[in-house]
Amino acid sequence: MYLIFRCDCGRVLYAKKGRATRKCTCGKTVKVKDRRILQRVETAQEASLAVQRMQEEIYGGSMFSTAEEFKNNKFLNQIDRKMREL
Ligand SMILES: [Zn+2]
Repeated sequence: MYLIFRCDCGRVLYAKKGRATRKCTCGKTVKVKDRRILQRVETAQEASLAVQRMQEEIYGGSMFSTAEEFKNNKFLNQIDRKMREL
């Protein structure tokens, strides 16, 4: 099983379940157990696909197809900001 989560810098990462840390390309070492798990998948291929999809959702900006998707994304960002303040 692979866990999908985000770094403080906003990048979406994945790590094999059981791994304690994952190094992000921003240089930060992310503790997996401290992160909110966004999704769980079975295989590495699924994990990399899910990461790709989420990166697109987050960085897609004007590419949102509906207002609802935009709202959901904004909500996610608010949660992230709150988590950073803790
Ligand atoms: Zn990062």
